[in-house]
Amino acid sequence: MVTFFLITGLGFSLFFITALLGRVWCGWACPHTVFLDHIFRRIERWVDGDAVARRALDAAPWSPGKIIRRVLKHTLFLTAAAAITHLFLAYFVSLAEVWTMMRAAPAEHWEAFAFIAVATGLLYFNFAWFREQLCIVICPYGRIQSALIDDHSLVIGYDTKRGEPRGKLHPTAPALSTPPGDCVDCQRCVHVCPTGIDIRQGLQMECVGCTACIDACDDVMTRLHRPRGLIRYDSQNHFTGRATRWFRPRTILYFALLIVGSTVATWALSTVKPANFLVIRMTGAPYIVDDTTVRNQFLLRLVNERNAPARFIVRLGPMPPGLWQTGLTEAVEVAPLGEIVQPLILQQPRAGYTGPFRIEVRVADAAGRFQLQREIEFLGPEARLLREEEEEQKHETTK
Ligand code: SF4
Ligand code: SF4
Repeated sequence: MVTFFLITGLGFSLFFITALLGRVWCGWACPHTVFLDHIFRRIERWVDGDAVARRALDAAPWSPGKIIRRVLKHTLFLTAAAAITHLFLAYFVSLAEVWTMMRAAPAEHWEAFAFIAVATGLLYFNFAWFREQLCIVICPYGRIQSALIDDHSLVIGYDTKRGEPRGKLHPTAPALSTPPGDCVDCQRCVHVCPTGIDIRQGLQMECVGCTACIDACDDVMTRLHRPRGLIRYDSQNHFTGRATRWFRPRTILYFALLIVGSTVATWALSTVKPANFLVIRMTGAPYIVDDTTVRNQFLLRLVNERNAPARFIVRLGPMPPGLWQTGLTEAVEVAPLGEIVQPLILQQPRAGYTGPFRIEVRVADAAGRFQLQREIEFLGPEARLLREEEEEQKHETTK
């Protein structure tokens, strides 16, 4: 339920933001953009240079210099992809566990190894080649954009009124009947666009809102001593000289849904505890009966999901008469993002066995901020079978 309301709340927030600010999520906050622009493109710029140098290198014949750059770039891409995948896995099994797996042979943790290999390969393929194709072809959010925005939404666009008629700067160019616009048709905005579109042709679904064309055009305008913002964030209405309205039926509706969604999501998040634990029965027979006791053996796995050490109090109860436990330490300290595994052995005298019954295991934060509960079942043979067995033994002793 928590996940449902969390996703619903985030979904409505995204609707509202898109109706107001267009594809701002894609350009500034989407994990795909964040990883691509802040890790992989930085590596690319560091190794290959800017967009112009990269195109020149792509077109150049193979040479020792080009081979070294290609090997270096793709080695760094693979390393970054592997690092992201390992960190992603650590989110589920803790950093300490991932570190242990990394030092062991692949066959010892083949599932994790296979996951890391496949996920690293997919990330590498995506960030080295596929890139914005994911936004255009696969991402569902990219596909529903056109339904969420209207002419009042903020988008990245080209100011046609100011830029046209475009034309190259040339001192000997014949005088035009109408004064030229500010666009000098240098094509910089087209060359830097990762999806290869020309924003001057109007809003297109392929625009992922990366703002590269804004930066490129501002740079050109600055050099020409003309006002920046020929390509900028603005509404379609404003570009054509009409007023932009922020309060519209769709933004009011999305805002109302956002409030409902985020209230429920906040409540749902406040119920999430920064720890988790499991009690699992040890493999083998569900219970062990010897001459004197009935025994059940469990393992308690306690995970600290905070990035700080935490103390927990582990308690059982209420315990039926005669039942006692061994193996479990009551007060435990768990390292940041770490986990501990403890045996939990429950025993009851065979003569007084009263099971099966359920026992509550409680793990409380030592500072008293939260408590988690699980139930385990103490199992044993049917009381009738135990009695019959005992009588048989007595009979044999008398003989
Ligand atoms: S970068 Fe600016 S000036 Fe150059 S072509 Fe694009 S819009 Fe025109
Ligand atoms: S560079 Fe291309 S994808 Fe990026 S904002 Fe401009 S038009 Fe859109």
